[in-house]
Amino acid sequence: MSETLNIVCPHCQAVNRVPGARLSEQPHCGKCHQFLFTGHPVALTTATFAKHIERSDIPVLVDFWAPWCGPCRMMAPQFEQAARLLEPHVRVAKVDTEAEPALAAQFGIRSIPTLALFRGGREVARQAGAMGTQDIVRWVRAHLG
Ligand SMILES: [Zn+2]
Repeated sequence: MSETLNIVCPHCQAVNRVPGARLSEQPHCGKCHQFLFTGHPVALTTATFAKHIERSDIPVLVDFWAPWCGPCRMMAPQFEQAARLLEPHVRVAKVDTEAEPALAAQFGIRSIPTLALFRGGREVARQAGAMGTQDIVRWVRAHLG
């Protein structure tokens, strides 16, 4: 695997070019020098969402949630665990729909939690309802082939 992948830094949003073979070697951001993968979902906002979706060469999994949503809070630790299993081959992110209503509206999020999987800037799969860690990982892998 000699291809180079664009990876968006979760800290400073710089687009890094990382050789695919180095992806698993805990790469750092060339700009802010922090880890490009932290093992935690990246909280995306209106300001950062499009860049991650459009510039990432790896798929992006997004959990649309809200602090007042019981099932969302129950799923949060499961989603955290899924992030550790899916990184660095998938960017795992979350959007607080209460803080970012414009993003929820843009994607027509009608119930939460909703998981959406993006690849190459396009949404390729969506699933509403809370899921456990293994179901999340299986669902993502099924849609990435
Ligand atoms: Zn950075």
